[in-house]
Amino acid sequence: MTSKTKKVPSAAAQKLLREIPKVDEFLGWLEEQGHDIGHQAKISVREVLDHCREAILAGRLTAKKELGLAGLHRLFQDRFKARTAPNFCGVINGTGVVIHTNLGRSVLPDEAMAMIARVGGGYSNLEFDLNTGKRGSRYSLVEEILCELTGAEAGLVVNNNAAAVLLCLDTLAKGREVIVSRGQLVEIGGSFRIPDVMTRSGATLVEVGATNRTHLRDYEGAITAETALLLKVHTSNYRMIGFCSEVPLPEMVELAARHDLPVMEGLGSGSLLDLSRFGLMKEPTVGEVVKAGADVVTFSGDKLLGGPQAGIILGRREIIDRIKSNPMTRALRIDKFTLAGLEAVLRLYYDEEVALAKIPTLAMLSVPKELLAARARRLSRRIKKALAGSCRVTMLKTDSRVGGGAMPEQDLPTTAVALQPENISVNELEELLRKGEVPVIGRIENDLFLLDMRTVADREIVPLADLILQVFGAV
Ligand SMILES: *Cc1c(COP(=O)(O)O)cnc(C)c1O
Repeated sequence: MTSKTKKVPSAAAQKLLREIPKVDEFLGWLEEQGHDIGHQAKISVREVLDHCREAILAGRLTAKKELGLAGLHRLFQDRFKARTAPNFCGVINGTGVVIHTNLGRSVLPDEAMAMIARVGGGYSNLEFDLNTGKRGSRYSLVEEILCELTGAEAGLVVNNNAAAVLLCLDTLAKGREVIVSRGQLVEIGGSFRIPDVMTRSGATLVEVGATNRTHLRDYEGAITAETALLLKVHTSNYRMIGFCSEVPLPEMVELAARHDLPVMEGLGSGSLLDLSRFGLMKEPTVGEVVKAGADVVTFSGDKLLGGPQAGIILGRREIIDRIKSNPMTRALRIDKFTLAGLEAVLRLYYDEEVALAKIPTLAMLSVPKELLAARARRLSRRIKKALAGSCRVTMLKTDSRVGGGAMPEQDLPTTAVALQPENISVNELEELLRKGEVPVIGRIENDLFLLDMRTVADREIVPLADLILQVFGAV
């Protein structure tokens, strides 16, 4: 708009504009109230006053009393809080999805957090060998532990599992052929598809078998002088049922050995423990895959392992050495915080019971259902009476999910606290809790807002109850 078409404010508006406090005046008043007057406070004051000016010119603010300091103070506080609250914040996960990629996947154990704080807040021996006083390798900090826990000869850790797969293919099969079963050309989500990663790595995909069935002879028939690798992808995020079969790893290993080729297994979730004794599905553990003879195995650090985001590569020493000297490894390398957290988590695995008790991902997956019901009763008792007339509070038996693309069919019986608001819609309740001081994320099912107790920690029950009461103005 040009200045010619700009509307001249009415006399009433002009009078109101003169009533807007000056920036310094407002700041002085805030200082008298004991508010700290820093950069963010100054910007917030300007934003509030600009907002008033615009509202007057648009005819939305017409009464002088709306410019009172008390009202402006409230606007200021909202602006100041919005400006100074961190964008990245903790949330309460009431979804019951244990490995929730959108909510940060694995919750780290206290041991890992302590280690991260220790090495992050000072200098460390990240790449310094304390025995020789010479330059060391960051990979050596966790390699030996990984090998002890899985039986692998060697290993390294990169940024995430996607990076691990890409790096292995780039090292072992660039410009050559990789044989994969048609039943294993999976999409992990977020546009990570095995065929696309293969293209990016410069390897040529040779698909064998049918969608539902692949036989050893299919692999055998596809081996040529150009073959670099046989790849098995663990289809952890979907299940095929009915007339289907894939070739077990030991048979692929035997075939590959006859042709002097390596076999790689992309494990995805990669559990170090067999969780089937808690009623979870039997998934191959990393140790079992190594033992079955895979030359390279890759898996995530923040899925069933319960550690920080990382991609772990284990395998034969000769192959791992080649991967370590690939220039791409430098571009995908992991940072000191991740290494610190990962080492602490891995150390907990030396004792299976300790791992189950202290690694939150494992603890949440193996918690007895009686404990979940008790947690639901605790939350319910804290809010039920106060919410009478505004929200019905009940307990509901339902199922949690493992998440992270792992064990998609696995039902995990749990208890949820179900909220049924009486004066607002369930969607409004969901939004209010999500936008609260500490965001609470749950799920809506049959017009009920559910908070699954599996992913809510015991220490979160009291704050969670308070947040719910706040939403209903019942504090
Ligand atoms: C999750 C997953 C990946 C990707 O792992 P990130 O650590 O998220 O990069 C790759 N492959 C499989 C089979 C997976 O399940």
